Amino acid sequence: MKIIEVSPRDGLQNEKTLVSTADKLELIRRAQAAGIRRMEAVSFANPKRVPQMADAEDVLAGASPSYSEFYIGLLLNRRGLDRALASHCREVNYVICATDGFSQRNQAMTTAESLAQWHDVAHAAREAGIRASVTIAASFGCPFEGEVSASRVLNLAEKTLASSPSELALADTIGCGVPTQVTELVTQATAMFPNIRMHFHNTRNTGLANVAAALSAGARSIDSSIAGAGGCPFAPGATGNVATEDVVYMLERMGISTGLDLDALVETGRWLSGVLDRPNQSGVGRAGIFPR
Ligand code: ZN
Repeated sequence: MKIIEVSPRDGLQNEKTLVSTADKLELIRRAQAAGIRRMEAVSFANPKRVPQMADAEDVLAGASPSYSEFYIGLLLNRRGLDRALASHCREVNYVICATDGFSQRNQAMTTAESLAQWHDVAHAAREAGIRASVTIAASFGCPFEGEVSASRVLNLAEKTLASSPSELALADTIGCGVPTQVTELVTQATAMFPNIRMHFHNTRNTGLANVAAALSAGARSIDSSIAGAGGCPFAPGATGNVATEDVVYMLERMGISTGLDLDALVETGRWLSGVLDRPNQSGVGRAGIFPR
């Protein structure tokens, strides 16, 4: 099971404390020392709308070049790709929302408009020789439109796959999904396309159960965030991504190797909670590793 660390982007983006570029670079360095390779490092969102990510270029310029293959830059539109290419980003992740309600708030366009821009992004990324993956946001439910059916997500996934993403991520952006939904969606998605990655928020404490269901259903990789950092501006009470420490603890205890140094992740989570000045949202981070 591959783990993609998303704390530098999803984790920090919605935190109240504005994190300095130096602290972001320290977080990236510590995650790499713990064995993390792929990492959602920055977002090329409009800096006026997302001030926490305004230093995307500086973060990529300051992060270790030894891992330059592995930094993922998030894109909300075609414009973001130009910044990503100028920053020598080797992988972009393009967000398409499953509902128009979420898409309008997040990206100021409809899902169909967003899909059209994805086709442009995919084409331009291929010409530039970089990888382009897609995340379908609000795949398990929408704060504005309510229930989101698996068939709706799979229909959108099929249209997305027409431009051959390197990977397709399905995101429970507001943390409302449950394992039966995960099993249904992942089983059907992997039948269409093998390289499925899952993104869970732990808002209603179903995050780890959803990770276990995704694993059984054939997902290849999981997004997680050190210390469970993060939230969502459109989901009141939303907590962060499922915590990296908790995912690694669970998988390793299940006999599934992650290749990561759990002690170093726990230490990093405690450090990050201090930087953010908020309680550690990782259970393993709070209680420690078992057995000792
Ligand atoms: Zn997220």
